[in-house]
Amino acid sequence: MKAVFLGTGAAEGIPALFCNCEYCTAVRRRGGKEIRTRAQLVLDGELSVEFPPDAFAHGISSEIDLSAIKYLLVTHSHFDHFSPAQLILRGYKFAHGMTSPTLDIFANEEACGEYSEATRLEMKDCVKSTISLHPITAMQTFSCGDWTVHTLPARHSSKDPLVFFIEKGEKSVLYLTDTGALPDMAWEGLSSFKGKTISLVVLDCTFLFGETAKEARHMGLDENARTMEKLRNFSLADGRTKFVITHFSHNSKPSLDLLAKAEREYGVIAAYDGMTLEV
Ligand SMILES: [Zn+2]
Ligand SMILES: [Zn+2]
Ligand SMILES: [Zn+2]
Repeated sequence: MKAVFLGTGAAEGIPALFCNCEYCTAVRRRGGKEIRTRAQLVLDGELSVEFPPDAFAHGISSEIDLSAIKYLLVTHSHFDHFSPAQLILRGYKFAHGMTSPTLDIFANEEACGEYSEATRLEMKDCVKSTISLHPITAMQTFSCGDWTVHTLPARHSSKDPLVFFIEKGEKSVLYLTDTGALPDMAWEGLSSFKGKTISLVVLDCTFLFGETAKEARHMGLDENARTMEKLRNFSLADGRTKFVITHFSHNSKPSLDLLAKAEREYGVIAAYDGMTLEV
């Protein structure tokens, strides 16, 4: 399975939109891998997790064909993960020769409401008819094409946030952002998959080397490590599992040196915009 990390920043991106902190100022000057757009992960070119405001930038900067995305999974309604207004451009005079004529969106009730609101004024009927909205809640399993998706509850500051366990054949991805320490119910859900080795675990690492408070709505490396340990204890992860940290905040100053230290000390891979992994 091919996983492309198109966006690896937290809500404000890096350099943050209106920020003149020392780190953002330095990143503006030096550019490169430290520039981070908002979260989007594309699997095998056809399934996207999240649709951020930076989808436009992702279409410019990568070799991804955004029109080939058939399935869109949305974790929660925060704008950095779901920015549906731009979906009005998926057809009519705005897009020609699209690879997939249809798009199926799976999102919680609040994000579905966001879609309706954001597209109400400008959506053409000919575009609307090609997009199907499927409301989902935690602890469900559904299929789309070759994919099976299990929804789990997250610990986050939006209404009914979700994380996903996504399977295709023998390969699987556990997508854990945005969330703090997983709620007990998520672990109950995961326990039913014991013995399956997850190919790729994507971890919210907003706090990086900062401490994750008990009720925090994001994670740092400390909580990432506890989650990794628990997954190993559940026989869900072993030496074959790749752990990727992402969703970095300017407040953690994720310089390349600091991320290299995180990789060494925690056995993780630090994502950057455009990073492609074969899992
Ligand atoms: Zn976020
Ligand atoms: Zn900043
Ligand atoms: Zn969020």
